[in-house]
Amino acid sequence: MTNLAANLVATARRHGDRPAVRLDEHVLSYEQLHASAAAVAGDLRERGIKPGDRVGLVFPNVPAFPVLFYGALLAGAVVVPMNPLLKAREVEYYLSDSGMSLVFGWDGGGDAVTEAAASVGIPGVVVGAMGPTELSGEPITEPVERAESDTAVLLYTSGTTGHPKGAELTHSNMASNAKMSVETLFEVTADDVVMGCLPLFHVFGLTCALNTSVLVGACLTLLPRFDAGKALEIIQRDQVTIFEGVPTMYAGMLNHPDADSADMHTLRTCATGGSAMPVEVLRGFEAKFDCHVLEGYGLSETSPVASFNQPGYERKPGSIGFPVRGCEMRVVDEDGNELGIDEPGEIVIRGENVMKGYWGRPEATAEAIRDGWFHTGDIATKDSDGYFFIVDRKKDMIIRGGYNVYPREVEEVLYEHPAVAEAAVIGVKHPELGEEVGAAVAFKPGQEVSADDLQEFVKERIAAYKYPREIWIVPELPKGPTGKILRREVKEMPRTS
Ligand code: AMP
Repeated sequence: MTNLAANLVATARRHGDRPAVRLDEHVLSYEQLHASAAAVAGDLRERGIKPGDRVGLVFPNVPAFPVLFYGALLAGAVVVPMNPLLKAREVEYYLSDSGMSLVFGWDGGGDAVTEAAASVGIPGVVVGAMGPTELSGEPITEPVERAESDTAVLLYTSGTTGHPKGAELTHSNMASNAKMSVETLFEVTADDVVMGCLPLFHVFGLTCALNTSVLVGACLTLLPRFDAGKALEIIQRDQVTIFEGVPTMYAGMLNHPDADSADMHTLRTCATGGSAMPVEVLRGFEAKFDCHVLEGYGLSETSPVASFNQPGYERKPGSIGFPVRGCEMRVVDEDGNELGIDEPGEIVIRGENVMKGYWGRPEATAEAIRDGWFHTGDIATKDSDGYFFIVDRKKDMIIRGGYNVYPREVEEVLYEHPAVAEAAVIGVKHPELGEEVGAAVAFKPGQEVSADDLQEFVKERIAAYKYPREIWIVPELPKGPTGKILRREVKEMPRTS
């Protein structure tokens, strides 16, 4: 029987004295992580939490997260991870939408959690960075029995449209994706040190950093909030062997003033996903740090990993690789017919990693999963070797006077300019064309170029209807919790310079 919490029990038995999670000088061994999680589980039962009840977690990357996550799972609860930057009314939305029974918040995180809990009338339990200390009840050391098709985690995501919806990821979804990642992608072992800089409340960090580490007994070294300089420091201090991050993390480290002197020789595997990795950043990072970066693709709804440039096969820069073990991927037209080589269409996914559905939203589920295939809203092509290339998200496509412009293609060209650190291309309303192409750009420290020169640079390299007619220079681009650039927010930025 597959149970995500059983992985911790087995690892604590095999590698009890090995470091499980680390936050600077604080270290929890696997035995300690298991004992703390078991105590949390007992406490939850004492508070009346039953299998299947929803328990919320609102934390940055601190040891309390793994302790409470595995504690709630041992008790048979469904975990609902949330971003610690949410305001009270946003937290309240998740609490009511999921019908939550109890929520844990971090003592360094302000009043949002307790306010939200009070307004929906459930307990809001505030704990420190290392986990709760005052617990009652008999510890639960073995997981309460759950079916593998029972939901383990509710992960809120906007999906392609509308309000955030809770993707119901089952024990089997989560456990199989972690196992596949360990065995076929990152090849993690108990001797590895994994960088924990992706937020654990997001599916990429949760599966690929936390659950893979726990499965094999690796050490997860945590960074509460991403900072490129701190990440370079931790990699050297802890001899990190596996780094997983979104592209902006790679760009931030590559362009950091300390990058030249950083000794990154311990890095063995680097993986990226979550948004398009600009080829220039990929090559720049590999050249500077003498390592190999593999790009993959996935979504909250697919636990998340669906495709990857896999070890032992050709690596194609700019490609998201090919489907992982246990997962099928196709490119289809509007009617669901599979398209031919290099023809752009929507990615659909089927496999053991695909969610059960959206919590409490049968219509949204039926719209997303049709004929057994999950519709991603991402446009891609497939080459003759079976490698997929993301063109863009369906909803981000700009239609300029009837021509389709995919922002990603224009961004790739902007990144080729040596002064550019970050770029986002968006559609701007235009009276005749409907939409015009605009770009917001941030420069590398100490480097600059005029908007006109940058425009000229792009114009020389791309079809005339695609180059940005307006370019705004900004200090930094708005990013989501994982570090993904938020094109939607770029649209709302004041457009000066
Ligand atoms: P989330 O559910 O927050 O993980 O977001 C999933 C979305 O991230 C996908 O639908 C894609 O649009 C995007 N995404 C993930 N990986 C990649 C990638 N390697 N390249 C481009 N977009 C990606």
